[in-house]
Amino acid sequence: MRITVLGSGTSTGVPEYKCGCSVCLDAADVSSKNYRTRPSVHVELDGKHLQFDVGPNFIDQVNHNRIEWIDAVIYTHCHADHVSGTNDLVMPSRKQQMDMPIYGPEQTIQILERNFNYMFSKDTFKGGGVAHLLPHVVNRNFQLHNFEIIPIPVEHGTVDTFGYRINNFGYVPDVKHMPDSSLQLLQGIDLLIIDALSFNPNHPTHLGVQQAINIANHLQPEQAYFTHIMHQLDHRCFHQQCKDQQINLPENVYLAYDGQVIYI
Ligand SMILES: [Zn+2]
Ligand SMILES: [Zn+2]
Ligand SMILES: [Zn+2]
Repeated sequence: MRITVLGSGTSTGVPEYKCGCSVCLDAADVSSKNYRTRPSVHVELDGKHLQFDVGPNFIDQVNHNRIEWIDAVIYTHCHADHVSGTNDLVMPSRKQQMDMPIYGPEQTIQILERNFNYMFSKDTFKGGGVAHLLPHVVNRNFQLHNFEIIPIPVEHGTVDTFGYRINNFGYVPDVKHMPDSSLQLLQGIDLLIIDALSFNPNHPTHLGVQQAINIANHLQPEQAYFTHIMHQLDHRCFHQQCKDQQINLPENVYLAYDGQVIYI
């Protein structure tokens, strides 16, 4: 399995608009690992290409990372940083000459059908410039091509939100609390990519670094990477930052970065 981290940033991206902090100044250079677009990953497995979330940076992310095919889109939830690039599925759909299957929680599919209603009707689709989406509501494990995809229900404010597991990979970009039953579904994974917004443990809808480490320590994957990262966390000195916060960063836990490719 080949996993490309298309975006590792929180909903604002990094740099934050008009922020003069050291991380944001460093992130003005787009080749810096501190430069973070909105969260998304692309998974290639057995010759199939799965796109997780389609945020506002989507089309630049796939172009920049030379993603050349998308067989299906899987949405974690309906927040704008995960869905607002949906209109740009027009290019993959057109080049591949196919309608685009999409999967997600019922609430997400409903909001997509409302906000992008023209993408669900063959009539508006006739004039070109519009992709046609084939919606699938996810509420339990489902089969996509030859592999099983397991939705992982998580608490993330009031929005119905899934992480997902495919084989030994778990992706949970937006989570405040993971119920025990969901942790169970992730047992035995080799790679975890999980939300760690900042050092703040009291954010209402996202994990802080210590809480994300606790989940990694519980699940014991071979490698864990943090995503959905705010400007507080600095790639250049993350180990030192953790020390300063009296946080014990395990050796196999890292910050993800845009354009990172991980093989498992
Ligand atoms: Zn900043
Ligand atoms: Zn969210
Ligand atoms: Zn988000």
